[in-house]
Amino acid sequence: MTKYIIIIASVVLLIIILSYFRNKRAKSKVIHVIDDNCSGCRACIKKCRHKALEILDNEEGRRVVLKNPQKCTACRDCIIACKFNALELVNRK
Ligand code: SF4
Ligand code: SF4
Repeated sequence: MTKYIIIIASVVLLIIILSYFRNKRAKSKVIHVIDDNCSGCRACIKKCRHKALEILDNEEGRRVVLKNPQKCTACRDCIIACKFNALELVNRK
């Protein structure tokens, strides 16, 4: 019985620690689009659960922009989805 309590307590502690570092990263980092690399493929938009990104389509071409920086949690999902190396995390100003 004690063994199970230790395992459960360890898992809870791990979740709390991971959550702490995730929140810390979200407060200090935000996504940045490298415009010259963006093809406008939308893969990152589909991947972003927080709807922080938006496609911009004008005479200069099609590319993604960070529509809502407050919504970005710096989770990196969009970076992983981007095949064009057009996204990076930068420090929030
Ligand atoms: S996945 Fe990359 S190339 Fe495609 S729209 Fe997003 S930033 Fe641009
Ligand atoms: S880092 Fe995460 S929250 Fe921020 S734009 Fe990319 S997928 Fe969305």
